[in-house]
Amino acid sequence: MLQRVLVTGAAGFLGSHLCDALLAEGHTVVGVDNFCTGHASNLSHLASEPRFSFLEQDICKPFDSGEVSFLFNFASPASPVDYTRLGVETLLVGSAGTINMLDLARRYGARFLHASTSECYGDPDVHPQIEAYWGHVNPIGPRSVYDEAKRFSEAAVMAYHRYYGVDTRLLRIFNTYGPRLQIDDGRVLSNFMVQALRGEPLTIYGDGSQTRSFCYVSDLIDGILRLSRSDEHLPVNMGNPVEWTILECAKEVLAVTGSSSDIVLKPLPQDDPTRRCPDITKARTLLGWEPEINLRQGLLKSLQYFKSEIA
Ligand code: UDP
Repeated sequence: MLQRVLVTGAAGFLGSHLCDALLAEGHTVVGVDNFCTGHASNLSHLASEPRFSFLEQDICKPFDSGEVSFLFNFASPASPVDYTRLGVETLLVGSAGTINMLDLARRYGARFLHASTSECYGDPDVHPQIEAYWGHVNPIGPRSVYDEAKRFSEAAVMAYHRYYGVDTRLLRIFNTYGPRLQIDDGRVLSNFMVQALRGEPLTIYGDGSQTRSFCYVSDLIDGILRLSRSDEHLPVNMGNPVEWTILECAKEVLAVTGSSSDIVLKPLPQDDPTRRCPDITKARTLLGWEPEINLRQGLLKSLQYFKSEIA
């Protein structure tokens, strides 16, 4: 059934791809963003799309979008560099912002999907991470502005589900990449791609033995749509379960770009998780979801985007 849906964080990396996917399914989409880390250029191709409208709005301030039947809550700074720079804003959007969006969903009886994160697991001592794991989070460290905001959001989503019967979904997103990642947001793959293409040294933080698992954006968006159609209200992990050390990942970027850049070691940021890998058994069994694009393929698909961004 076609719907009028709201996407917060619509000008961000995931939000903008989600808007595209929802429009392609025939829905009418209202995008909301305050551009604190999002970019209008991510939505410029929708300027003449009659089923898309845009509200420049900070979700920490209540607003009325008019009736919507589904609300996708994707607003938040998300890269470590951005959320460290915007620490208080990150705490506010994950608390007041999420509550405002839950109120909006409640008012219109809309279904609600919240973009949560693998950061809820902190520096995990259970590996790979399963949804039942409660996490190992430093509540006062530099990453706490993001981790605790996202954990508060999960508590708020569950409370609105339990107390008010809002039809909610919680998605724990692991590292995702692809076109529209900002080249200056400090994430590992955007940094490495840009450094490799410019012939600059690739900056590895620490010794490069820490691990991450990288999901290509189209795989993640497919999973989001599947979760939106399911009735599961408990958290679901979504990410690519193939685990890479950061050093291996730097070598993969050098191979894909054909760059002869050096690798330099830089200090490891405080509380940087030593390993991260999703257990996606739940998404597999519940949604029939499985990432299809491996890191090599995804980096190749992203190459042209990064080339044009640095041109
Ligand atoms: N990292 C790195 N070099 C960079 C940027 C990041 O070695 O130029 C490391 C970072 O320390 C972390 C991993 O890559 O261990 C992933 O970092 P990112 O900022 O992409 O996101 P995170 O997964 O930490 O939220």
